[in-house]
Amino acid sequence: MYFVSTRGGKERVTGAAAVVQGLAKNGGLFVPESFPCVSAAELEDMLSMSYPERAALVLHKFFDDYDKSGLLAACEAAYSRFEGSDPAPLVKIDDGVYILELFHGPTCAFKDMALTLLPYLLRKGCDISGIKEDILILVATSGDTGKAALEGFRDAEGVKIMVFYPNDGVSKMQKLQMCTQDGSNVNVVAVKGNFDDCQTAVKNIFSSPVCNEELKKRGYLLSSANSINFGRLAPQIVYYFSAYLDLVSSGQIEAGTPIDFCVPTGNFGNILAGYYAKRMGLPVRRLHCASNMNNVLFDFFQKGEYDARREFYKTTSPSMDILISSNLERLIFEVSGRNGELTSRRMAELREKKNYKLTPEEKATIAETFDGGWANEDEVVETVYDVFCDTGYTMDTHTGCAMKVAVDWFEKNKKDTTNMVVVSTANPYKFPQDVLYAVTGNDVRDSFKGIKRLHAATAMKVPASLAALKDKPVRFTGVSAADKLFDEVLSFISAK
Ligand SMILES: *Cc1c(COP(=O)(O)O)cnc(C)c1O
Repeated sequence: MYFVSTRGGKERVTGAAAVVQGLAKNGGLFVPESFPCVSAAELEDMLSMSYPERAALVLHKFFDDYDKSGLLAACEAAYSRFEGSDPAPLVKIDDGVYILELFHGPTCAFKDMALTLLPYLLRKGCDISGIKEDILILVATSGDTGKAALEGFRDAEGVKIMVFYPNDGVSKMQKLQMCTQDGSNVNVVAVKGNFDDCQTAVKNIFSSPVCNEELKKRGYLLSSANSINFGRLAPQIVYYFSAYLDLVSSGQIEAGTPIDFCVPTGNFGNILAGYYAKRMGLPVRRLHCASNMNNVLFDFFQKGEYDARREFYKTTSPSMDILISSNLERLIFEVSGRNGELTSRRMAELREKKNYKLTPEEKATIAETFDGGWANEDEVVETVYDVFCDTGYTMDTHTGCAMKVAVDWFEKNKKDTTNMVVVSTANPYKFPQDVLYAVTGNDVRDSFKGIKRLHAATAMKVPASLAALKDKPVRFTGVSAADKLFDEVLSFISAK
């Protein structure tokens, strides 16, 4: 399978090269030349498979330059780091409504589903492509990617990793998780501004020939662990398959019956993986894109215009506080009939004027599969509370946004009997104060008090990795201006 750029041109690379490079040379995102198919017979075979076996099957369709047994071993190793026997369990909370829990990995957020595996894809990818340089990974994070990437890559041989997060744009727990990170090859820097400023600054380094040349002189090759890297996207496709298969094997649906997913969305990586699963043949009817108050995607689906000229809100679901959703570029590319030139033009418009428009036909194509919804801060609190009261299930604030959107859908479509899987992206203890407030109405100032009281209120198990943060020394305290990140990078790789 070869990969091409969403912005056209002649570049055509293998899976290994797409992972190592991260971004296409013309600034576009790598997409598979065509969508591989999973047949009904293969789906049936997958019913009896373990999660790692399902993962290896799906991944090998994209990464056929990797050997399948190596992929399987890597998946087994990655998902053995998850708590419990199933890395992506499905919980039924009502008739036809399920929650897909993706937060049982080492850092308690869904980013672990891909970032526990990416180090293997990258290391092997370097071997396959004969790359000798050390790899420097730069990550812009709205909170959860940073920690998951640090944990995935810490002490990896031949790799250095540097994470940038918006200074006041992540939760206390997220910040603590990152700033206490162990490992000899890691660095974490706060950036003045919001996530979009942070992400743009990191993207600028990636697309700058001067920066790349300078790093090359020092023996480093840049790569990305952000969801613009196809190596992040591919492992996320797996859990859409797995959720479906679990519904079939537990007798909740018959094989072939279409289902819906509702996904809390920021950078559009998670939900895009659901779209890829559908394109590969998984019976998915609709994908519901859930936003918080930063509802640029909701407006996009409504109007067919992406318009980032708007106020930026800091919410209790910080990993969704994003106005420029990078992975949307891959969807736009598909619905434009894979028109790289047009996609490139639109991304230039987005950079320069902060908006672009779809044609009515493209808007209609998207509406066949996607719809958008959003939740304001009160609605998140009410939804988390209502679900807790009605079912005893505790969900985090990001999942709360998605649940609200799912509830609204059923309000408006009372006769709809299609099963809905709400994707849950974080452990509630990652946002203990906000979840405690939603569940009990209590406000506490300290995160660890929040954890204690949330445990008292819900009896949910506290993840050991979060409880341990209380006593871990803070290693990283640096703050940088967004236009000075490359200086930070150079001093990091020069340090001994
Ligand atoms: C990253 C993240 C999201 C958003 O996922 P995207 O792939 O960026 O759309 C939602 N919830 C949580 C908890 C996250 O960490």
